[in-house]
Amino acid sequence: MRRSVRLAARAIEEVATQNHKFLQTSGEASRIKWKEEKGNNLRKGTSSIKSGTQQSKGKKRAREKSSTEQDHCEQEGGNLVNSVVTEEKVKPEIKRVKIEPGVHATIKSDNLNFQPFHTKLIGAHVSIGGGLHNAVSEALSIGAKAFAMFLRSQRQWASKPLQDKDAELFKEACSKANFSPRSILPHGIYLMNCGSPDEETLSKSRVTLVDELKRCERLGLSLYNFHPGSTCGKITVEESIARIAESINQAHQETKYVVTVLENMSCQGNTIGGKFEELRDIIDQVQDKSRVGVCLDTCHAFAAGYDIASEKGFEKMMDEFETTVGLQYLQGVHLNDSKGELGCHLDRHENIGKGKIGVEAFRRVMRDPRFNGIPMILETPYVSENIYQKEIKQLYAMMNLKKKKKDWIDM
Ligand SMILES: [Zn+2]
Ligand SMILES: [Zn+2]
Repeated sequence: MRRSVRLAARAIEEVATQNHKFLQTSGEASRIKWKEEKGNNLRKGTSSIKSGTQQSKGKKRAREKSSTEQDHCEQEGGNLVNSVVTEEKVKPEIKRVKIEPGVHATIKSDNLNFQPFHTKLIGAHVSIGGGLHNAVSEALSIGAKAFAMFLRSQRQWASKPLQDKDAELFKEACSKANFSPRSILPHGIYLMNCGSPDEETLSKSRVTLVDELKRCERLGLSLYNFHPGSTCGKITVEESIARIAESINQAHQETKYVVTVLENMSCQGNTIGGKFEELRDIIDQVQDKSRVGVCLDTCHAFAAGYDIASEKGFEKMMDEFETTVGLQYLQGVHLNDSKGELGCHLDRHENIGKGKIGVEAFRRVMRDPRFNGIPMILETPYVSENIYQKEIKQLYAMMNLKKKKKDWIDM
């Protein structure tokens, strides 16, 4: 077992109350097996990303929208912002499925039983409305084997401290529902910019990063996903990367074991992390390599210029990830189709199969053992009441090698 996983696992055993250790190692084992099978066939890929003008400006979806520094940076240019915002504003917020505690025991297995497909931990970003433990109920109600959530309100810096009672309720719910810490990938608030040129924002971001990692530890969680940051066009990429790495190093010193998982971005505006080289440069400067990882967002990768819509492009991206970052750092996936074209640099998520990436690409992802045992999280638009449930079901169906086109039921 890789050292980082071993260390994280040991820490979890000490701190967390959950007892689902088998999932903590299954992803790594699968990837090692895949690597052995692949042998020395790895091609030495170079970046397929053109450096780009980074002039594409846009907005995140309404549900992700907040008055972040990054947003402020984006607003400085481009009329495209307005058109995107207008469209995105009409989208509904994530709705929490109201499920009473314990109801999972009564969920019919014919709808939600994905036992044969345990190798893939597919889930969605769920709401924490009504309490953190409700995220677990919602995840169960949609047939998820993994989930993501915010740890607190993501629209403001200040937040109420986590109460012991709430932490216990969450841990209890996870334990009952068999959600291992390695299947839960909380998302950091969007206000944070750990690579900010502004000292005040940088300082607030660092305080927030520590606060959120401590929350994870109290909740028995071992992974924490966040957006690396932005230069805001005021400092160099290298300077911003150094700040991000230093933010992570400081946070590691103040916390015990949680793995900080950097998300690849879409090269929108001045954001860092659209190119794998940038993620590598951050990781290179992180002292405790056992506590850093990467979450691969399919929409962001496509928008950044990685052509995962084609088989060749997908393999090229994976080779590049392997050679530039290293598969051992892959700790999660965000499953999103893309409204924007290849290389558009716009962070605009679309429902699976409805965007420019397309069904075939997700079928490839679902059948690729390199993604086994790590959380795979939908962040697609919440266009209808049961959309996540349908998408999860369809993604699991794609794993069935006997079926071909029939597994895709148009919604
Ligand atoms: Zn994200
Ligand atoms: Zn994402």
